[in-house]
Amino acid sequence: MYDEQPPADVTDIRLWQDAQPVLRRHHQDAFPNERRCAFCHVDWPCQPRLWADQADRASRIPVAVRWPGSAPR
Ligand SMILES: [Zn+2]
Repeated sequence: MYDEQPPADVTDIRLWQDAQPVLRRHHQDAFPNERRCAFCHVDWPCQPRLWADQADRASRIPVAVRWPGSAPR
């Protein structure tokens, strides 16, 4: 479980929480000149990072867009 509070624009907290540990592990800080992931050592950006970025973006999709018809009228 991820304890950090999500940003105000997050609409799917669970998805955002699931993405954060992956985003933290898969970065390129350890190899700034080599364009490799610090965690899995493959070319940057690695596939887990791309999926986590996508999950992070998806966690911010407005509820009315994600589930049309579910928003209060
Ligand atoms: Zn990686």
